Amino acid sequence: MIGIYGGTFDPIHNGHLHVIKQLLQSHRVDRIIVVPAGDPQLRERPVASSRDRLEMCRLAVESLSSLRDRVEVSAIEVERDRPSFAIDTVEAMMANHPGKEFAWIIGSDAFRRIDQWHESERLRELISFIVIERPANQGGSEVSDDEFDDVGGEEIDALQISATEIRSRLALRESISELVPSAVIAYIESKGLYGSA
Ligand code: ATP
Repeated sequence: MIGIYGGTFDPIHNGHLHVIKQLLQSHRVDRIIVVPAGDPQLRERPVASSRDRLEMCRLAVESLSSLRDRVEVSAIEVERDRPSFAIDTVEAMMANHPGKEFAWIIGSDAFRRIDQWHESERLRELISFIVIERPANQGGSEVSDDEFDDVGGEEIDALQISATEIRSRLALRESISELVPSAVIAYIESKGLYGSA
C-alpha cells in the first residue's frame, strides 16, 4: 500500500511528520508520497509559494533518518499549470505504479469536506482513505464514530499542531522550535517567510 499525503503544507510541521512516522512504523503503508498542492480549490491561497512549500517538504523528509527511504516528495501538483485535483494526482500515480494499491492520508478536518472535492465519488472508488483524527479545536472532527471506522479511521494520537499556529507564532516572533524540524526553520528564516524577516 502506498499512502499519498496531500496538503498545502504551508509549512509542513511535526504534526505531519508524526503521521508519516506512525503509518510507516506500523506498516500500515509501505511508502508515502507527500504531495504539496499547487493551487488548492477549497481554501484561500497559501501564504508561501508552491516552490517554497515543496522545498520545505523536501527538507522535512530529509530529517526523517531511517524512514527517509520510504518517503518521496512529489512536485506533480506544484508543476501543474491548471488547478490541481486529487483525482488527477491519483490517476497519474496509479499509471506510474501499475498494480499498486493507494490510500489518501487525510486529517479528519479535511475529510469532513471530502464531498466537495472534484469527482469525489470516483476518487473514493479508486482509493481508500486513512483518516487521522485531529483534536476538535483544529477544525474539529465531525466524522462520526461509525463513519470513522467505515473509512478506516486511524487511531494515531495526532499532535496538536497546525500550520496556522506556526504562521501566527512566526508573525509574533515566537519560537516554533518544538513544532517544525530545524532544517525547515532555517529555510523559513533565510527566506523571511511568514513575516519572520
Ligand atoms: P492550516 O492550519 O493552514 O489549515 P494544516 O496544519 O491543517 O494547515 P495542511 O497542509 O492543511 O496543514 O494539512 C495537510 C493534511 O494533513 C490535511 O489532511 C490535514 O488534515 C492533515 N494534518 C494537518 N495537521 C495535522 C496534525 N497535527 N495531525 C494530523 N493530521 C494533520
